[in-house]
Amino acid sequence: MADHYQTLGVGRDASADEIKRAYRKLAREMHPDVNPDPKVQDRFKEVTAAYEVLSDPDKRNSYDRGGDGFSGFGGGFGGFSDIMDAFFGGGGAPRGPRPRMRQGQDALIRVEIDLAQACFGVSKSIGVETAIICEKCGGDGCEEGSSPKSCDICKGRGEVQQVTRSFIGQVMTSRPCGTCQGFGTVIPRPCRECAGDGRVRAKRNVEIKIPAGVETGNRIQLGGQGEVGPGGGPAGDLYVEIIVADHDFLVRDGDSLHLQLNVPMTGAALGTNMKVETLDGEIEVEIKPGRPGNYYFCATFGEQFNSFTGAITLS
Ligand SMILES: [Zn+2]
Ligand SMILES: [Zn+2]
Repeated sequence: MADHYQTLGVGRDASADEIKRAYRKLAREMHPDVNPDPKVQDRFKEVTAAYEVLSDPDKRNSYDRGGDGFSGFGGGFGGFSDIMDAFFGGGGAPRGPRPRMRQGQDALIRVEIDLAQACFGVSKSIGVETAIICEKCGGDGCEEGSSPKSCDICKGRGEVQQVTRSFIGQVMTSRPCGTCQGFGTVIPRPCRECAGDGRVRAKRNVEIKIPAGVETGNRIQLGGQGEVGPGGGPAGDLYVEIIVADHDFLVRDGDSLHLQLNVPMTGAALGTNMKVETLDGEIEVEIKPGRPGNYYFCATFGEQFNSFTGAITLS
């Protein structure tokens, strides 16, 4: 396993603050919108995993003692919101302003392919419409030259306290601040392109490689290609669900293909050769005299399908 300290480029005696700073610097460089290169994204996952361990005193302790840092926590990687909590001082408590930048949702699209494509695999360019980061404001939602301001109503706390009198005395309740919607900041001049959301919807083409042997319902996961989150937060994943269309005369059963072959009465009685259309060309099948029933045709095509049977019926 990679050394978490090395991954973040800090010493083993680094303070919590140094660790946070190191992570933020790397996160800015490796954000999927800045650098979608899969190699960088793999590195980013390592960096995030390292930060997840080293930013938590208990996990860091356990890691320093030789554990993986996750023991006792159910192996759970809390995900982006935990990390944002760490940035914004939430520390797991639900109090305080909520971050404007949040993790984006996963997206799902369905793609129909034909049986030959399922058999041999295919590369496809598919149109996808998702939220992408707003290029005009870079995701922060502010018009050029302006920036978010601390909310005057809640003084940046994201919540307001209310004192009500009841028969048991004064009761203090707090609720999210209506002026800033709990963010603790307001955007005085929202970006005109995205109305302050930090993202816009856009269509783009995504190249996908569908491997040989897929079946209806299989999903291909494309990391970081889903919806960009509010405030320009990291994108969720894109799932491409495969639908394999029915073939005119070939019926699939797992990795086998079947077809119904009608043999003229005389051919069946005396034996004959018949041409059979397969997914990659014609083959010739020998029909033995007087033997209707199931035939096993030894036809190989694709990497996935190697058995090919035909039911002979008399016509
Ligand atoms: Zn407020
Ligand atoms: Zn914008």
